[in-house]
Amino acid sequence: MGKEKACKNCHLVTSKFSQCPACKTYTLSDDFSGIVYILDPEKSIIAKELNIRFKGKYALKVR
Ligand SMILES: [Zn+2]
Repeated sequence: MGKEKACKNCHLVTSKFSQCPACKTYTLSDDFSGIVYILDPEKSIIAKELNIRFKGKYALKVR
């Protein structure tokens, strides 16, 4: 597993360390758990719970 960070705002997991590519905030954390892959945000219950609108790799919990 490489070094990645998760966005505290939208939960996107990214290898970028400064700005979240999805919501453009700077609240990235390396303390996260529970990776999920959202392939179809409109049909995913998890995506609805986390307010995910784009497909991608997300963390269930970001601290
Ligand atoms: Zn974000």
